[in-house]
Amino acid sequence: MEFETSAMSMTTIVGNWKMNKLPTEAAQLASDIRGRLEKHRRATVVVCPPSAALETVSRVLEGSDIAVGAQNVHPEIQGAFTGETSAEMVREFASYVIVGHSERRVEFGETDELISLKVSAVARAGLRPILCVGESTGIRNSGRAVQFVTEQLTKGLSQINDVSRVLVAYEPVWAIGTGQAATPDAAQEIISALRMALRDQYGVVANGIPCLYGGSVNADNISEFVTRPDIDGALVGGASLEADSFADIVTAASQASS
Ligand code: PEP
Repeated sequence: MEFETSAMSMTTIVGNWKMNKLPTEAAQLASDIRGRLEKHRRATVVVCPPSAALETVSRVLEGSDIAVGAQNVHPEIQGAFTGETSAEMVREFASYVIVGHSERRVEFGETDELISLKVSAVARAGLRPILCVGESTGIRNSGRAVQFVTEQLTKGLSQINDVSRVLVAYEPVWAIGTGQAATPDAAQEIISALRMALRDQYGVVANGIPCLYGGSVNADNISEFVTRPDIDGALVGGASLEADSFADIVTAASQASS
């Protein structure tokens, strides 16, 4: 299903619900968000429920311009992978997939190589990968943040040729769920380096790749991020779990970037 109607140049706000919300609660949240954003046309909005709620949320949002994303897929199309879900399977309900979130990298040991295979599987299924990159506190303190995230980006995209449908999310690990967002200037600095690496590798296509910031984004700080030249939106965790706070972020982002 493809709900997306917004232009590439619009701000993109993605809600990552992580492992929260029972399917009935997810349906209610999706319905409330839809209600709040019914007339909203100035941002590309994506919600990523847990896999158990993908179908029900996609039904609730059918006919709206709010898109659905999955939080993870397996790189293979099908087979003996108990407990896993393929990109082909989520395609009926979602048009985006988050790949390489730091929680997957840290909690589940996902490597850049595995992530590159997932990006490839998502792209082959006709879905849009949201490739997450981000440094830990230790790497930031060692002064290697730009080099580290650029490597994550390059490796993550190494298995695909066409990057025109990719989104990139810069999410410093130390900013996720901590209430300590990066400063907008620090996020702009890293994202501009990522954009430069994309330009070096892919030329002008890089200008159309939405580059998002993620890490303790809320309705009060979103404007500061989306008004920076290279930041095209946000990936939102905690604040996407309530319709009002998520809709306020979308509204503030659309106003700030219009
Ligand atoms: C995330 O998990 O991708 C995230 C950005 O979380 P939070 O907004 O809660 O920091």
